Amino acid sequence: MTERLYWLDPYLQQFTATVTAFTEHNGQPAVILDRTAFYPTGGGQPDDRGTLNGIPVLEVVEREADGAILHVLARPLEAREVEGRIDWERRFDHMQQHTGQHILSQAFLRITGAQTVSFHLGEELVTIDLDRVGFPPEAIEAVEELANRVVMENREVWTRFVEAEEAEGLGLRRPPKREGRIRIVEVADFDRSACGGTHVRRTGEVGPIKIVKLERRGNETRVTFLCGGRALRDYRRKHRLLLESAGSLSVGEGMLPEAIRTLQAELKETRKALGALQELYLELALPELERKVQPAPFGGVLIHLWPRLPSGLLPRLARRLSEGRPRLVILASGGADGLLIVACGPGVPLDAREVLQRILRQLGREGGGGRPDYAQAPLPHGDLQALHRALSEAMG
Ligand SMILES: [Zn+2]
Repeated sequence: MTERLYWLDPYLQQFTATVTAFTEHNGQPAVILDRTAFYPTGGGQPDDRGTLNGIPVLEVVEREADGAILHVLARPLEAREVEGRIDWERRFDHMQQHTGQHILSQAFLRITGAQTVSFHLGEELVTIDLDRVGFPPEAIEAVEELANRVVMENREVWTRFVEAEEAEGLGLRRPPKREGRIRIVEVADFDRSACGGTHVRRTGEVGPIKIVKLERRGNETRVTFLCGGRALRDYRRKHRLLLESAGSLSVGEGMLPEAIRTLQAELKETRKALGALQELYLELALPELERKVQPAPFGGVLIHLWPRLPSGLLPRLARRLSEGRPRLVILASGGADGLLIVACGPGVPLDAREVLQRILRQLGREGGGGRPDYAQAPLPHGDLQALHRALSEAMG
């Protein structure tokens, strides 16, 4: 069994050790040491990174059979005596999140009676699952308040080993999962849990604890939260987003929700007015367009181009002009949201998709699609002169 230096001193960043076995893990070289400061994946906490004699440690796993800790390496290690270095930034982050989790779980238990049933520390997110649902916002605030008060009181955090029988009388937050010797982590006068992870030595080091999301999952609630450096980075990012949003609407950040509501109401009104105007335009434009229909053997042909037209209007015009009549209708508009439409009324011996593709080929463009009686293609910044020429080519 490997001696776990991280239990004695979680602040140990450098150590020397002797290789006791050279082995492999999933095809990668791996070594077992007589002692290590590398934490292996377990108890919801991810493994450490770092180096052994300068060789990157890719993964640290505990072998279930004998409790040996495997250091999976980027390339083979030859020496027997090694110097290990822990990626401290990563580890300290894990210590902040993990200690924060103990505090938050106890705060939930005290304020709401909810028990933590699992814990996951991810690359970005940290979550606990609680054994109940339906937390009012005031309860969540009270939990945050209590957890952060315990942080600011800068209480001591210590660990010790006890025998399982002794653990029963200690009032642990949850009954321990294993037998024999049990490691107890205690936040002074606040929380006592069985845990094999790495923790900070005083709660002040955890930094702010912030709950960011609650999700119901069956009869449980998943709570996403951030501690310390992660909480600060999240605050910084959100503050920047808020300032940007408020700045783009030229209001103070406190006025943002109201400004958005006003904009939404205005947008709704504007859309309504635009719809009414488009309807009006349609009624005015249709007789004019009817007069432009040219005779054709199967009925008639109508071609019309607009330098600019709201893109929603063109399909409505095309349908109204081709509906129930043996008529080929080709409409296009220019501008950034330019559009080309081919519509074939009943009795027109043409496939709208083929006509569309013929025109697009003349323009050196592609794309679009539709049905035999209606096809369209986006034509952003279409050159209407070129389109005129392409149409006469395609129709000729
Ligand atoms: Zn822990």
